[in-house]
Amino acid sequence: MGDWFQSITDLDAEVDEAGPLAESITAWLVSVTVISAERTDCVLGADLGHPPGPGGSAVVEEPDLLPWGSRTNGVSIHIGRKVFTTVDEDSRLVCPGCHRVGEWRDARGDESAQAARFSEVLTDWLGGGGSRLDCLGCGLASRLNDWRWSGTPWAFAALGLTFWNWPSLRPDFVTEFGHRLGGHRIRSVSGKL
Ligand SMILES: [Zn+2]
Repeated sequence: MGDWFQSITDLDAEVDEAGPLAESITAWLVSVTVISAERTDCVLGADLGHPPGPGGSAVVEEPDLLPWGSRTNGVSIHIGRKVFTTVDEDSRLVCPGCHRVGEWRDARGDESAQAARFSEVLTDWLGGGGSRLDCLGCGLASRLNDWRWSGTPWAFAALGLTFWNWPSLRPDFVTEFGHRLGGHRIRSVSGKL
């Protein structure tokens, strides 16, 4: 079993924009009854989330599978820089310039130099710094969100909404998020806890 999650993240929102954007997105979701305005203990990874509303049926691929009766069935909203990861352990960073695959571990099983560099940049970014990670193959420095992935991509974002145990969100609903976020790039990340 386990709990399935889908996060919609905003790749462009700055930290100071995330709060107001979260408010407007929440107001929209409440107005179309995708979520309830109240907040309850219905999510993981946060104290409170918004329970699903009747409009939730219109935004998922399989409405019959909405987890109405489950304890973990709400939507949590995260504001502040966060890495939205998947549980796809096979997914590796791929340089957008030279397409070199940055293995997490080297031939001896130790953390690879590229992985160590990634960790440094990630820590720096989480602390408010920039997100440019240089490729040890070609030297190209790309922002973390501009790196490709060999499998499921991660997202590095200051704003993200996570739907807990909902069936797959409809693509047009996900696209609407981008419009509602002022045309920002969005990235969906999903996985299981
Ligand atoms: Zn490269």
